Amino acid sequence: MKTIRMIACLSLAFAASSAFAADKVCKVEISGTDQMQFDKKEIAVAADCTEVEVTLKHTGKLPAQAMGHNWVLAKTSDLAGVASDGMGAGLPNDYIKKGDARVLAHTKVIGGGQAATVKFATSALKKGEAYSFLCTFPGHSSLMKGAFKFG
Ligand code: ZN
Repeated sequence: MKTIRMIACLSLAFAASSAFAADKVCKVEISGTDQMQFDKKEIAVAADCTEVEVTLKHTGKLPAQAMGHNWVLAKTSDLAGVASDGMGAGLPNDYIKKGDARVLAHTKVIGGGQAATVKFATSALKKGEAYSFLCTFPGHSSLMKGAFKFG
């Protein structure tokens, strides 16, 4: 009888501790305009976020073919390469080179009035590393980029 009580107690403690360590999804919203701008120059995500959910909204009116936007996360040192290789990938591939391992997360390319969401685990990110977000639509990344801070 004592043993049973002990097991019940242990499993309760285990359930409580795993509930405490549950995923923390941190939500971020960012918008892009017909003026080729993001409304944020920096996104900061706390170290205890296990997942990040980024919602990109296109507040303009122009279609994706003319003024498409996506939200792409990469190391700051990879930003230029991701942008230049993405340029040739075309709209059907969301202006991201197929299998580009430098792309840590990305939404699809959207046009005016649309929205897209991407959710990713922070386990792929390292504290102290410099990350950036950008739009890989051709010609956009010089204006549409910002710092992504984790930790
Ligand atoms: Zn764009």
